[in-house]
Amino acid sequence: MKKISIIGAGASGMAAAIYLKSKREDLDITIFEADERVGRKILKTGSGKCNISNNLIRAEGFNNSDFINKLLKKVSIVEVYQFIEEELGIMLKSDFEGRLYPFSESSKSVVDSFKRRLDELNIKIIYNSFIETYNENYISIFACGSKAQSKFDGYQLVKNLGHTIKELKPGLVPIAIKEKIPHLRGIRVKCSAKIIVGNDILHEDSGEILFKDDALSGILAMDLSRFYCENCFVSLDLVKEKSLNELYAYFNKHKNKGRSVEEILLGMFPKMLVMEILKRGEDVVKTCKNLIFNAVGLNGYNQAQITVGGVNINEINECCKSLINENVYIVGEMLDIDGKCGGYNLSFAFLSAIAAGKDIINKLN
Ligand SMILES: Cc1cc2nc3c(=O)[nH]c(=O)nc-3n(C[C@H](O)[C@H](O)[C@H](O)COP(=O)(O)OP(=O)(O)OC[C@H]3O[C@@H](n4cnc5c(N)ncnc54)[C@H](O)[C@@H]3O)c2cc1C
Repeated sequence: MKKISIIGAGASGMAAAIYLKSKREDLDITIFEADERVGRKILKTGSGKCNISNNLIRAEGFNNSDFINKLLKKVSIVEVYQFIEEELGIMLKSDFEGRLYPFSESSKSVVDSFKRRLDELNIKIIYNSFIETYNENYISIFACGSKAQSKFDGYQLVKNLGHTIKELKPGLVPIAIKEKIPHLRGIRVKCSAKIIVGNDILHEDSGEILFKDDALSGILAMDLSRFYCENCFVSLDLVKEKSLNELYAYFNKHKNKGRSVEEILLGMFPKMLVMEILKRGEDVVKTCKNLIFNAVGLNGYNQAQITVGGVNINEINECCKSLINENVYIVGEMLDIDGKCGGYNLSFAFLSAIAAGKDIINKLN
């Protein structure tokens, strides 16, 4: 019998344990979890609905896409869907943008499914067990997550092994702005947005912005946050469906019917957003196509969905095995891999866990 220790009972640690034990009943697997429960972060995902994966996963949706391409040759994304449906027993459903959710739309039901399968397979979990040192008698999988909305991490643990950590910063996080906009708090707009420094467009995308008192949030702002740098600003195109000229024509048509600019805007946006546009005191049509907010930073780890940075991926192979110690695997968010919103990060937790599991099974056979 071979002993395997898994450090961390989040999505990646639990998936690795379940994958291994379902393939090799004789393995003696113990999960060490610092917290008093498993899957605390999963409960927060997708606003309680758990956007567990995505039908349209692309390597380009991650920072280190070359590594993801190599990983996807070891584990296909279809294996992830099969693992979720067949191993965890979770029925999946997709939204119109390809995001996958549990049919229940409940992150609690996902954690419950993990717990049920861990029990069925008799996988031991030692709670309240913060691991600081590495036990050389075991094959170890480090699955300690990150600093984002987490009480515990394992960066020191991997540093002790000789691994290096790429600079850590909050990721998928609201962008703090200079403008104070409490009157816009809670308003959501579907738009396109650019993050710009000087004349350079760092990134452009479309989606939903959620205004906070002094920050831009929502999936679109979170995705842009990866490109934040000093002195950058965010430009929102609130009417991406129309070109500037088409929008001038639209305003002119309505002005000719006797409508004021304010009335035209009220036919397009919530009142408080109309007030903001008018307050800018410029050509309102141009403002609709280019509403600027000056970025002054990123909100902290307590509001971040992930951590950018982590264990240097040049120090692991494509199965997430450490190149420093061949009995160690590092999976999930601990690694310097971050994906965009839409189920990418949980997908990576599963992909990396299965890749490590497959490699361990091959090694033991
Ligand atoms: C609010 C929020 C919403 C999110 N929504 C989504 C979403 O909808 N879709 C998506 O794909 N991703 C989402 N994410 C990101 C996703 O949840 C994470 O990327 C994923 O859960 C990471 O899994 P993991 O197993 O690597 O780490 P974690 O889930 O963080 O698990 C790590 C575990 O290790 C334990 N641990 C840490 N250090 C130690 C130690 N030294 N000893 C013992 N135990 C330790 C921790 O207590 C924790 O239980 C969201 C994140 C947040 C915070």
